[in-house]
Amino acid sequence: NPRLEHKTALITGAASGIGGAIAELFAREGAALALLDVDVAAAAALARRLSDAGHHALAVHADVSDAEQVQHATAQALEALGRIDILINGAGINVFRDPLTLSDVDWQRNLGVNLQGAWHCTRALLPSMLEAGYGHVVNIASVHGHKIIPGSFPYPVAKHGLIGLTRALGLEYAARGIRVNSISPGLILTPAAERYFQSCPDPEAERLRQAELLPCKRIGTPEEVAYAALFLASDEARFINATDLLIDGGRSQL
Ligand code: NAD
Repeated sequence: NPRLEHKTALITGAASGIGGAIAELFAREGAALALLDVDVAAAAALARRLSDAGHHALAVHADVSDAEQVQHATAQALEALGRIDILINGAGINVFRDPLTLSDVDWQRNLGVNLQGAWHCTRALLPSMLEAGYGHVVNIASVHGHKIIPGSFPYPVAKHGLIGLTRALGLEYAARGIRVNSISPGLILTPAAERYFQSCPDPEAERLRQAELLPCKRIGTPEEVAYAALFLASDEARFINATDLLIDGGRSQL
């Protein structure tokens, strides 16, 4: 049987990379999906492709840093799907700056999208999850939420916060059927990672250097993160709460 049969999920950042891979896997596993993204054209294209393949998916638009847009998009998703069992907070952006020249706008954008965005979406769906006595939230954090890699400021500030949000909220509603966990991917080959490589003077050399840093000598794939999200969002993980799962090929242990 499909593992998410009769389940509904809202996935943010669903139009690309990790969120996109989670959408594809969850659809194959039988979930009805709301694909939330600021790039609603790309989310709609994916929803169409999944629907054409016989799955149930719709696209909704929001910039997750904007609470009002999130409220509107989640209300639309709730109306279309009836209820949301699973929330995947996947929307995120890389903000890597020199601390001394970092602008307030970039500081705020980093926290607004990478941390507050997850809170906005969770807060919008919590009341209906609490009413149902059932809900799973999976936040896509990062290895940067565990280990500081020089040159990555202020991104780790938001990702540490996201792991804190996971632990705090997980305890808050544990007795009422809500679980909150996070996944911390290491380097994963997504369009965002590709943009990073292309920003380097020698993209190919940087790609090889990054792979060489990993114990398994290769960069991860979005599907490898999606399988973990599937497990955490499934009822098989029902005793797993308020914790974080590193998916980094073992790099953080070096
Ligand atoms: P990506 O750029 O390929 O996809 C991110 C998606 O989020 C895009 O569709 C984008 O339109 C959407 N998005 C961005 N800002 C948004 C906003 N304000 N509101 C709504 N949607 C927005 O990136 P990715 O590499 O797949 O990253 C997904 C998540 O995984 C992010 O939270 C990122 O921090 C995290 N992550 C990625 C890696 C990696 O190596 N790729 C590693 C660790 C963590």
